[in-house]
Amino acid sequence: MIEASVPLSRRRNCTFCGTLVDSNGIGTFQLADGWLENRRKGGANTIAIVHRRDVFACHECIDRLRHGIPAGQMHLFDGVARDES
Ligand SMILES: [Zn+2]
Repeated sequence: MIEASVPLSRRRNCTFCGTLVDSNGIGTFQLADGWLENRRKGGANTIAIVHRRDVFACHECIDRLRHGIPAGQMHLFDGVARDES
């Protein structure tokens, strides 16, 4: 839930479910492109030269994707039709 005090310039819609999110808010995800360096033994990769895109997602949708559940699926059970494309 976004707070009423969030300025319009920071308000975005989750790309998956349409929920209004604060682009600077804690827990909001932002799509980014970057460069990953190949490591000899794998492990954590550092992302260099990150380019943030103006695409945002709510924490709930990213959690569902992390668990293999299509993002925005919960809304199907709420009786709210969403564009899943
Ligand atoms: Zn969402």
